[in-house]
Amino acid sequence: MRFVIHRGAKEIGGSCVEVQSGKSRILIDLGLPLVDPKDSSKKLEVNLRRESPARLRERGILPPIRGVWKDLHDGPAVDAILLSHPHQDHHGLLSLVRPDIPVYLSADALRILRRSDAFIKPGANIHNAQFLNHRRAKIVERTPFVVTPFAMDHSAFGALAFVVEADGKRLFYSGDFRGHGRKAALFEELCSKPPRAIDRLLIEGTTLGSASHEERTEEKLEEDLKALYSRYSGLKLVSVSGQNVDRMVTLYKSCKDSGRTFVLDLYTATILEGTKRSSIPHPGPDWHDKRALRVIYTPKYEDILRQHPAYHEVLELAEPFRIEKDEIAKDPGRHVMVFRDSLLDDYTALGDWGKGVLIYSQWSGYRKDPGFAKVDAVLKRRGMDIKPCHTSGHASKAQLKRLVQALKPKILSPMHTFHAELARELWRNVELLEDGRSYEVWGGKMR
Ligand SMILES: [Zn+2]
Repeated sequence: MRFVIHRGAKEIGGSCVEVQSGKSRILIDLGLPLVDPKDSSKKLEVNLRRESPARLRERGILPPIRGVWKDLHDGPAVDAILLSHPHQDHHGLLSLVRPDIPVYLSADALRILRRSDAFIKPGANIHNAQFLNHRRAKIVERTPFVVTPFAMDHSAFGALAFVVEADGKRLFYSGDFRGHGRKAALFEELCSKPPRAIDRLLIEGTTLGSASHEERTEEKLEEDLKALYSRYSGLKLVSVSGQNVDRMVTLYKSCKDSGRTFVLDLYTATILEGTKRSSIPHPGPDWHDKRALRVIYTPKYEDILRQHPAYHEVLELAEPFRIEKDEIAKDPGRHVMVFRDSLLDDYTALGDWGKGVLIYSQWSGYRKDPGFAKVDAVLKRRGMDIKPCHTSGHASKAQLKRLVQALKPKILSPMHTFHAELARELWRNVELLEDGRSYEVWGGKMR
């Protein structure tokens, strides 16, 4: 069994690994890069709907893999794509793929993708899904590959790691993970009951370049949020990814505990309803606390949902939770609202925010996005503070070490990091890899 990292050996974003055994080939993830392939100091600016595949190829955005892209007729298709989790930097190129290629993923991940497809264009558009279940081995059809998925704690819903086995060799692909989220028990289970005989570990190394520190848990964040709310008498806006389901639970709990109302926008409401979990706050008849959870309708999102008959149900379910602008304007201090840059105009129309705050509950790098400059200006005009309150979706170095200790791979290679070389400071059996080169999963060279 051999593999090629098409992208990700030395960067975060655009993760894609091809695994080969004989004539069979599968891909693990097919993400959109975060940095420009021609100049890694720049954030990638791209429009997948307007730019032709040929142009995207020229720009180095589509990795050169045979039998993947729907605009090319270049031989037999890859046998499958395994998707670790629904984050753009892991699935963002799926819309350009031949529709007949089966995509193996968790049912949770597919539900999130189906819901976000209505809002984010082009969507993942998965036509041929095969479901993977925690710790249940599955043969990839018509191939020698056996895949065993492990549900992981990550800021994406339905995240998986994989053991891929063929030719008597075993590769572990960690995907993105952490051990301090609401599903930390999954990380503990993986460390206490690890799969055996791992030859090669491909481990995410997002935090390799950052200072060592323990990440706050979501429970700790809940307390920190409550403390922040109490310092501001006006409206609380929270910049947060609508797909960070763990964080939505944290926000809801912090509101409920402090007698406040958590207000979802229609996009976030659609995602949360799509989780189909009674334990996750969502608009639906099984969610009884309609005082602590409300949904604000904004014209753009409402139009999107009305245009798709498949999503009319969401509008019906959200109706009993609907909150009007006047209700928020009457008592802004009571409300904690999910915010994103594109909602700025809708939310300024709410009138006076009082002495409020924008809580930044995602990676601080997004504050450099051009869209945030306008937000920043409006906040300044209104005398609003910006306060960070976030915990990473990625494993700390201590957690990375624990996973390696548990899996005891013969050899390990970091990916999904800008600081792969720092892996050598943590472990001895490290092989640093190059994008686009083919490696044996285990050639018996190390130790
Ligand atoms: Zn991720």
